Amino acid sequence: MRVGIGYDSHRFAGKKGRQLILGGVLIPNPKGLEGHSDADAVAHALTDAILGAAGLGDIGRLFPASDPRWKNADSIGLLNQAYLKTLEAGHEFVQADITVICEQPKLAPHIEAMQERLAGALLVPPSTVSVKAKTNEGMGWIGRGEGVAVIAVALLQP
Ligand code: MG
Repeated sequence: MRVGIGYDSHRFAGKKGRQLILGGVLIPNPKGLEGHSDADAVAHALTDAILGAAGLGDIGRLFPASDPRWKNADSIGLLNQAYLKTLEAGHEFVQADITVICEQPKLAPHIEAMQERLAGALLVPPSTVSVKAKTNEGMGWIGRGEGVAVIAVALLQP
């Protein structure tokens, strides 16, 4: 068994026109997140956890922000591509646990849909991808609603 951890954060965009996408789910919100891709911090943290467990580096190495191919990229697609490389390297996904930390919006109504989207990219049942959401109790940059942070842990087996 191999374990990996992933972390990601994105700031809310100052300008309008960015959609908020977390865990592959479009979440109604006045502001979206800034980023080269679709800024899906949940998909990014999970991708890094899986790549870390496999010893395959990180999402920035695989899909550099300097590459125009990944502009506004669908991060669920990037997760799927990263996982196919993980499979090629001889590691199979077992289970993941993800914590999303953000003050607003409330994510509880979207958790199930996120688990389905993330699991779909990994070709596994949604029950193997746990997604939890919490606030930062009003503290710091997350508490001020400046952005979103995500921590993910993933387990792989040969
Ligand atoms: Mg990111």
